[in-house]
Amino acid sequence: MRQERTLAKQLPCLVGEEVCLKGRVVSIREVGTVRFVDLVDRSGRTQLLLGDACPTPALQSLLNCYGVVKTSSKSLSGYEIHCHKVLVIAAPGIGESYNPEEINSPLKEGGPSLENQLDRKHLSLRSSAQQSITRISSEVIHAAGSFLRSRDFVEIKTPKLVSAGAEGGSGMFEVKYFDKLMYLSQSPQLFKQTMAASPLERVFEIAPVFRFEKHATSRHLNEFTGVDVEFAYPDGLEAVIQMEIDLLYAIREHLLQNCSSELEYLGAKLPNLDNIPMLSLDEAKELLTGEKPSRRKPAKELTPAEEKHLCQWARETYGSDAIVVHSYPAATRPFYLMPYEDNPRRSMSFDLLLRGVEMSSGGIRVHDPDVLEFNLKRKGLETSDFGFYPEVFQYGCPPHGGFGIGLERLVQKFLGFENIREACLFVRDRQRLAP
Ligand code: ATP
Repeated sequence: MRQERTLAKQLPCLVGEEVCLKGRVVSIREVGTVRFVDLVDRSGRTQLLLGDACPTPALQSLLNCYGVVKTSSKSLSGYEIHCHKVLVIAAPGIGESYNPEEINSPLKEGGPSLENQLDRKHLSLRSSAQQSITRISSEVIHAAGSFLRSRDFVEIKTPKLVSAGAEGGSGMFEVKYFDKLMYLSQSPQLFKQTMAASPLERVFEIAPVFRFEKHATSRHLNEFTGVDVEFAYPDGLEAVIQMEIDLLYAIREHLLQNCSSELEYLGAKLPNLDNIPMLSLDEAKELLTGEKPSRRKPAKELTPAEEKHLCQWARETYGSDAIVVHSYPAATRPFYLMPYEDNPRRSMSFDLLLRGVEMSSGGIRVHDPDVLEFNLKRKGLETSDFGFYPEVFQYGCPPHGGFGIGLERLVQKFLGFENIREACLFVRDRQRLAP
């Protein structure tokens, strides 16, 4: 008897042959005296026709099935297995029959809440929807890496235990590190800039980011995955923005080509990224309020409601699901952003908003040690608190820029979810530390 495992996707080449399929029972149907079972493995779903000697398995049990491959006009794949032997390898053994599709049922009134579903994520992730989301996240990471490598970027991994933060220690989780106090990294900013200053010039990192923020919103997690990109010699702020737009395009194309069945299953319509409008913060505020910001009343950061309005405007006016807002006040943006030469109150910064929410932040960085010292002082920070970092500039650093995207926010917005938690495999927020 053939013991070697056959996958669902291999069946078309094996018609008439004896095979061994291994997988999970997702449906059982009895038509008269005939019993059909649907078995899934990582490559797809197969219909089994159970012979008289085979026991009827429980839903969600894990089987080794032995039988002959036949073509079948009645099965979805066009093939089925006529089984003569079935071994139950494992089965739900706690007396409770369960269905991952129900645990993960679409969020609706009267159904299980998102929090209830997250409590049982270790089981709901066996559902078709969760498999689709997880596969799509994985393909986003794959597409981002492929695109960036095609533009000469090198993937790096930087420490998540750090002694200082990109924002100077605020918003960071403390960690007892032997006899010292360290922090969980809130951004790879300082390391990625250090690498952009190296002869490699172009680097990216896809890694965990920790934020000590007491948020309870549909867009914040306390641990998320940062897609961080940094490169030397950009041709101005526009070139950094364009690099991000090209990256988002590449991700979108990759998903359309490789995840069509998952997107269809989730009913997801990917965002339109053509024709993305770009406004300065002042222009955006004027559009929102009808008032021109002035020296006396400078524009402040966008509120979440304003982000929503601007996206709506971009959609209605340009048919685009994204909008770029640039040139934020230097005072409200981090010290590592380069001020405009002719207007030092404004930083060479941008946010890309997608479907109502900020999805990334970026800009041109300071590479001049004197400007760095000035910026740090202006924010009441000490150069000496930043360890090795000032030396990166004192020893000569090329002009550089970059951006950071939140992976879960990207997946949330690409798939059109209300809440970022729907796009995160194992959520870490203020309340949730398990599963
Ligand atoms: P926000 O204004 O939404 O709090 P931020 O300005 O703090 O975000 P940045 O520090 O610029 O965000 O981080 C870059 C990107 O990382 C954001 O645009 C977002 O996609 C993602 N991000 C930031 N904070 C979080 C968070 N707490 N949870 C999930 N993703 C986040």
